[in-house]
Amino acid sequence: MKKDTKIVHAGRHPEQYHGAVNPPVYHVSTVTYPSVAAMTEAERKPYDGMRYGRYGTPTSFALEEAIAILEGGYRTISTASGLAAITGTLTALLKSGDHVLMVDTVYFPTRRFCTEHLKRCGIETTFYDPSIGAGISALMRPETRVVFVEAPGSLTFEMQDIPAIATVAHAGGAIVVMDNTWATPLFFKPFEKGVDISLQAATKFIVGHSDAMLGLITCATEELWHVVKSSIAHFGVCAGSEEVYLGLRGLRTLSVRLRQHQESGLALASWLAARPEVLRVMHPALPGDPGHALWKRDFSGACGLFGFELAPCPEAAVNAFIDGLEHFGLGYSWGGYESLIIPTSDGIKRTAKPWRGDGPTLRIHTGLEDPSDLIEDLAKGFDRLAAKK
Ligand SMILES: *Cc1c(COP(=O)(O)O)cnc(C)c1O
Repeated sequence: MKKDTKIVHAGRHPEQYHGAVNPPVYHVSTVTYPSVAAMTEAERKPYDGMRYGRYGTPTSFALEEAIAILEGGYRTISTASGLAAITGTLTALLKSGDHVLMVDTVYFPTRRFCTEHLKRCGIETTFYDPSIGAGISALMRPETRVVFVEAPGSLTFEMQDIPAIATVAHAGGAIVVMDNTWATPLFFKPFEKGVDISLQAATKFIVGHSDAMLGLITCATEELWHVVKSSIAHFGVCAGSEEVYLGLRGLRTLSVRLRQHQESGLALASWLAARPEVLRVMHPALPGDPGHALWKRDFSGACGLFGFELAPCPEAAVNAFIDGLEHFGLGYSWGGYESLIIPTSDGIKRTAKPWRGDGPTLRIHTGLEDPSDLIEDLAKGFDRLAAKK
């Protein structure tokens, strides 16, 4: 089955729901049993079948089954948000005295979780340059338990040589965890590249409509799945029933949406790259981007999220550029049908390799509007920027 067909079929069992195409939303806390024997029997396999709302329902099982098939892993766990998938995975795998190698360009809340919360638990994090590749061997320690990758990097979109890093990590006995939100399971196959656990902020492209918070953790093996699933269940950070349903609903159109996000995103990125006001565009699918060769080797597509740097100009000029935009919402998150923009200069936190930029940086999420309307909107923004220079 090709991936567009798989995305339609994965995790669907209409025969279990009177022929309905989609599973119902199970609103569940209590699950009752016909006998003590049945109750005891269910507890032997605590995470299979419905036992208590916190551990999963047929709605969450359907989404988890579909994502495991698409990511190509053993089994998936749904969580209350993308960040809960990240923190839930790290806390499941790590104990006091362990060491984490974390990519310097990681999503900022992941960085903060390491430097504030893992640190408090006696777990040390070393941030590494995203371009390190096999050179990561110099940073490995006997107690290095997790090597965390995210490509492209948050806000600045650097690529990583994930297979090279995974080979070194595995030789040192570490587990490779990847935040695969940008590429989604459609454009990067984590388990073919050496990743052991793949994370999705499903809030972004999988939900796809800016209306729910949802995280997904997919594990390569039954052993890892059991460790992470037990921990998530013990912490109680399960996903809500409606959210899981919205994830399942969004998933079915992910492929066609992403195709358009990719095409329109590249149109905007190329147009911006040719503007005199723009110093550089950070988009690994653009030929000439420093990460292009790695992207081309390992990824089969790009979403519409990318960054760009303006030639130095006053803050008031950047604000005038953003504030008058008609089609770009000013807001966090991404992956919905609508375009978004944010200034990112203050958000770029790096310690392993300081960010060297001359001008203000911004990030665009390209939505599903007609790209010519988006370009016209940006062109007017540059007129406002020029007027404030
Ligand atoms: C948004 C995001 C997250 C967190 O997801 P939430 O659902 O907002 O908690 C994690 N990683 C990346 C790369 C993200 O963009």
